[in-house]
Amino acid sequence: MFNDLKNKKILVTGSTKGIGLAAALEFAKQGAVVGINSHILDADAEQAIAQLESLGASFAYFKHDLSRSEECAALVSEFVGQFGALDVLVNNAGGLGIRVGLENLDDAAYDLVFDLNIRSVVMTTKYAIPHLKASAAKSGNTAAVISTGSIAGREGGGLGACLYGGSKAIIHNLHRNWVKEFTASNIRFNVVAPGTIDTAFHEDKSAELKEKIRNSIPMGRFGTSEECAPTYLFLASHQASGYITGQVIDVNGGQMCP
Ligand code: NAD
Repeated sequence: MFNDLKNKKILVTGSTKGIGLAAALEFAKQGAVVGINSHILDADAEQAIAQLESLGASFAYFKHDLSRSEECAALVSEFVGQFGALDVLVNNAGGLGIRVGLENLDDAAYDLVFDLNIRSVVMTTKYAIPHLKASAAKSGNTAAVISTGSIAGREGGGLGACLYGGSKAIIHNLHRNWVKEFTASNIRFNVVAPGTIDTAFHEDKSAELKEKIRNSIPMGRFGTSEECAPTYLFLASHQASGYITGQVIDVNGGQMCP
């Protein structure tokens, strides 16, 4: 189904655990050349590297903190320097940042969440665009940008997560704008909007809160990173989704049906 991903050069940001890692592993299994990234070379990163090695994947790990513009530029430049091209960018690095009510928000919290979730996506995409244009021109098919949005970008986010929910809504909308600017260059832009996925993201939540969330999901359980991964493959593959752009694809067990 996704045969055309073989040998494609795919950069997945924020991919040493959780949703990004599951997508990177699936891309590697399809024969893609994969770049993985995190801001810290920790045990998760080492384990991710070991997993890709054991698959015999063609890959590289890039340590960059994408909340800083110069590191977004360096990531793209190092990936292209190593692999010679960039066919698909997955903007997945992101996170809650902080859980705090509006009345206690300060500038540091504001910068933390928007740098992590918006600067990373805007700047990494900006630096990727010339390479994606070149990829599309060379192949005659589309290149692709896929960003990880969120159910929070549709419904506002949990208590204390207004900046997070707002930042994900911005990601959904940035893509709609980029469709207007770059479809002529044969680049597609789509968003994967996960619901509640069982990753480190939820480790600050109590057992009671997790149970409450579970009860709000028609499927009665959190999703898994592995259940998100095929949607990234679908949106990366020109063969599978070459006429799909500007869409937000929800992977949420029915938690929200927009
Ligand atoms: P996770 O914490 O398991 O993984 C996050 C990854 O991003 C890690 O590899 C981490 O090292 C990396 N990262 C964090 N900060 C970074 C930075 N500044 N620069 C580069 N890399 C960085 O989280 P996850 O749940 O897999 O989340 C992945 C994406 O999915 C995020 O954008 C998150 O907002 C989104 N999301 C998650 C859920 C969920 O329920 N888990 C729901 C909706 C959206």
